[in-house]
Amino acid sequence: MSGRQHSRRPQPSSSIALFAISALVIGAGWFAYTLMPEGGRWPGAGAPSATPAATATAEASTPPVADATATPPAAEPTASVAPAPATSPTFTVAAIGDLLFDLGPRQLIAAKGGKAPLAKVASLLRAADLTIANLETTLSNRGTAVTGKPANLIFNGDPRGIASITSSGIDLVSLANNHAMDHGRPALIDTLAALDKAGVGHAGAGLDSKAAWKPALITVKGHTIAYVTATQILPAHFASGTDRAGVAVGRPISRAVAAVRAAKKKAEFVIVSIHWGIEQSYTPNAGQKRDARALIDAGADVVLSHHPHVMQGIDTYKGKLIAYSLGNFLFPYKTVEGRKSIILRFTLGPKGATNITAVPVYLGQWGRPVPQTGASARSILGKLASSSKPMGTSITIKGDIGYIKP
Ligand SMILES: [Zn+2]
Repeated sequence: MSGRQHSRRPQPSSSIALFAISALVIGAGWFAYTLMPEGGRWPGAGAPSATPAATATAEASTPPVADATATPPAAEPTASVAPAPATSPTFTVAAIGDLLFDLGPRQLIAAKGGKAPLAKVASLLRAADLTIANLETTLSNRGTAVTGKPANLIFNGDPRGIASITSSGIDLVSLANNHAMDHGRPALIDTLAALDKAGVGHAGAGLDSKAAWKPALITVKGHTIAYVTATQILPAHFASGTDRAGVAVGRPISRAVAAVRAAKKKAEFVIVSIHWGIEQSYTPNAGQKRDARALIDAGADVVLSHHPHVMQGIDTYKGKLIAYSLGNFLFPYKTVEGRKSIILRFTLGPKGATNITAVPVYLGQWGRPVPQTGASARSILGKLASSSKPMGTSITIKGDIGYIKP
């Protein structure tokens, strides 16, 4: 979903009923969308235009906007659709990999504007009630490049990239990664402010460790969700401290486990992203497996993680979904394999994650994600299937979509 940036408009008294209608329309749209792939038409073409289904509570280190919890704007009423409750037992989630607004995406933004990097996938992302990504760059023109890292691995994303995040309906981003502090505290401050101003929830980095560990809270179709993130990959000086800006450090996993336990007391669902693993490895290591299980034992409902720059397998533990690495999503990565990616979609509700599917994308020129069909779709989904098979997960490809059975 998207459009919380518009939610600060004064609401008409009928907004709740109209929101209910819009929620129903979105639900129907998602359902149709899920069932569509056999038809041979790319599902994004039929995806509903986004109407907000979620409201964020900015748990930011910078002051949250005063009305961040405002009721979302109403859709145009549809005469033939009867009003329905604004809540639903389930909601849909789309999860994606690393977003980088430097290098190729920066060139694309300069040529075609801030929305261009995600324009080809925006309707697919907006079709979900809740969309989650890893923001692997800052959004800033300020700061000084950090020392102790190779120059080609220091990024500062074009601040205009925020338009890609909002126009594609990304609701939550993780900032817990090995690039959040590439340009120091000033660039982090700009990034936090840009996300807060746009109404995008974020977690995993802040102006001190308390802020870095604060989960992002969001309400989707009447359900509260806490997003907890931390990184196991970082230059040591990226760590947040009592009076030091930085990231939430997830190694050892104990503090993240405690954060999940605390979040579970505040929210109905807890979604976790940990930045971990080995670059270009398709197999989660023993530490990832152990830590994912510890997070689920502590109450995590889903683990959606990042860093290896390729897709690792899809797994479950105690019936809870684990994506060990979602790979790159907006990234001019150096290898063909690192440009294969997916939009991981599922329904979250009392039965956990159900209707799990993968929409294949390829990161083409500028590292821009483009939905794939035919042989390219099969190649991407085949790779995901082979990584997932050792975990007992099967993936059936039908109509360019991967249907995932853990
Ligand atoms: Zn990383």
